[in-house]
Amino acid sequence: MSKVFVITGPSGVGKGTLIAELLRRVSGLELSISATTRQPRDGEIGGRDYHFLSAEEFDRRVKADDFLEFATYSGSRYGTLRSEVRDQLAADHSVVLEIEVQGARQVRAAMRESIQVFIAPPSPGILRERLRARGTDSAEAIDVRLEVAEQELAAQDEFAYRIVNDDLMRAAGELEEIVRTELGLPLHSEAE
Ligand code: 5GP
Repeated sequence: MSKVFVITGPSGVGKGTLIAELLRRVSGLELSISATTRQPRDGEIGGRDYHFLSAEEFDRRVKADDFLEFATYSGSRYGTLRSEVRDQLAADHSVVLEIEVQGARQVRAAMRESIQVFIAPPSPGILRERLRARGTDSAEAIDVRLEVAEQELAAQDEFAYRIVNDDLMRAAGELEEIVRTELGLPLHSEAE
């Protein structure tokens, strides 16, 4: 049966890298492409990384009830389009949502059957290092993200699963096991 997996956690914790590894390891999973009003970063492509929308277009789609969830994060708006999830489930694919905590809560309320995973850093200090090393945000933007991260870390007990991203391959193994167990798949792919 197809399922919805919500992967959440603070910015800089490595959600994107972990999810890329998960999609490599488990077939039949599709990533939901979110909509956002933030500007594309260097190398980001509309329709692949995000649906980049103007504030007006985002607003119009909120009013049209097109979003399963949406939130304001660090001054920009982000949201999961219902169509992204609906189309994948209709095609018998499970869907992975990479979203922040407010959105994860909304999905939990709307889809109690969704599987919610919080990715935590091994220590709060490491987030600043990772955000700096990523080089995609200004010093001011990093400060805002770290303030939000504090609130997000305080919410981690709400989530059914929690993974500490201390080591990418180890954490990816844990995430893979959760997803395989929830989908009733054998715990290791045949390639291993
Ligand atoms: P970034 O600007 O670094 O791409 O994303 C900022 C934050 O927004 C990250 O925590 C990311 O997971 C979250 N995010 C991305 N897409 C969505 C979405 O569709 N909904 C919500 N609620 N958060 C999202």
